[in-house]
Amino acid sequence: MGATRVVVIGGGIAGVSVAHHLLQLDPDLDVLLLEMEATLAHHATGRSAALLLENLGTGSIRALTSASLDYLRNTPDGLIDAPLLSHRPVLHVGTVRQDEAIDRMLAEGIESATTPTVEIDVDEAMRLFPPFRRDRVHRAIVEPDSADIDVGGLHQSFVRGLRRAGGRIATSGRVDAATQDGHGWRLDTTEGSVGADVVVNCAGAWGDVVAATAGVAPVGLQPFRRTAFMVDGPGLDTTGWAFAGDIDHLWYLRDDGPQMFCSLAEENPSEPCDPRPRELDVALAIDRLNEATTLGIRPVNSAWVGLRTFAPDRSMVIGSEPDHPTFVWCVGQGGTGIQTSPGAGLLAAQLVVGVAPPQHSQTLTWLTLGPTGSGPAEDRDDDNC
Ligand SMILES: Cc1cc2nc3c(=O)[nH]c(=O)nc-3n(C[C@H](O)[C@H](O)[C@H](O)COP(=O)(O)OP(=O)(O)OC[C@H]3O[C@@H](n4cnc5c(N)ncnc54)[C@H](O)[C@@H]3O)c2cc1C
Repeated sequence: MGATRVVVIGGGIAGVSVAHHLLQLDPDLDVLLLEMEATLAHHATGRSAALLLENLGTGSIRALTSASLDYLRNTPDGLIDAPLLSHRPVLHVGTVRQDEAIDRMLAEGIESATTPTVEIDVDEAMRLFPPFRRDRVHRAIVEPDSADIDVGGLHQSFVRGLRRAGGRIATSGRVDAATQDGHGWRLDTTEGSVGADVVVNCAGAWGDVVAATAGVAPVGLQPFRRTAFMVDGPGLDTTGWAFAGDIDHLWYLRDDGPQMFCSLAEENPSEPCDPRPRELDVALAIDRLNEATTLGIRPVNSAWVGLRTFAPDRSMVIGSEPDHPTFVWCVGQGGTGIQTSPGAGLLAAQLVVGVAPPQHSQTLTWLTLGPTGSGPAEDRDDDNC
């Protein structure tokens, strides 16, 4: 009798968190993570805005964010080299025509927040983000307790945790098919065949594709493009500057060392793929940013697009498939998959431990431990859909 084998599909933030938490809950599990790319975190995880915003998303997303705070603030010893969070207020601004949107976000933030959203006057907004054009800021609200997340450090903390507990990671191993095999599964991958007692689907934008290969009905995941790019900073001391965004999600930006990280903040549907930035989207963002600020943005140093993948109700899908209890979903991370990753990973792991058959025999027919990535990718615009 071998240990119960759990195969986690996907090496983004969701997959490594689930794998880490599985081994925390049950060190006797045989946990194997399969990632189709040559490096981990190549897709959405390596392309985020790296923010913690407690008042974002549906009620269940907010609950998962709350459940993640302890890990983010007090990460277990030995898993990180530096704190994962650095405080940064998030500022949403609106022009005279955007009163309704400001009122809506304010009401939502006050109602459900553990850290209430507050309205501030224009002088305070200018102090928090000096490059604003004053005549473009009619009203401003701030989430004072938000923070930047060290996404590479967070991802690596889960990788360290799972490796120290005996978990294994295999890169360049795409799962192409999953067939039920007795109580468990036989996975056909690009490198050969793997047996599993339980499969956890953490395939991000490809979540429904992976399900289809297992004969499991899709949950209706929709990936959406979001463009981001780096430009030269203003050459000023940016200490204490907020993350600044339009209340209707028309643009956002923040300083990033000597550069500024900028985004069009768009939500355009896409197939699951490795998307490429479009010149027009970057140009539109620059136009809007130059209207809203005095930064005079022109040349772009690097640009990329990430996919934010949502289920129809914009909450995450975490749990066993009713007709196939050993097929477990952890998908639909949308725009909050980084900040919710400790809580979502723990929840999925608890559900897996609940369905995992005790001590089931499995024969491992393939396993190559390829090189693994050390953290999120930086600028990727090499492949297209
Ligand atoms: C521009 C932008 C800004 C964002 N800002 C924030 C933010 O501020 N805060 C926040 O919390 N979140 C943010 N997000 C969202 C966050 O990045 C995602 O929710 C999160 O990274 C999703 O993680 P994941 O592991 O589910 O997906 P991914 O990182 O995409 O990982 C899925 C993995 O599965 C692998 N895979 C797929 N199919 C297979 C297969 N058949 N076999 C093997 N492997 C497979 C893929 O290669 C991939 O590595 C942002 C996203 C974008 C694009």
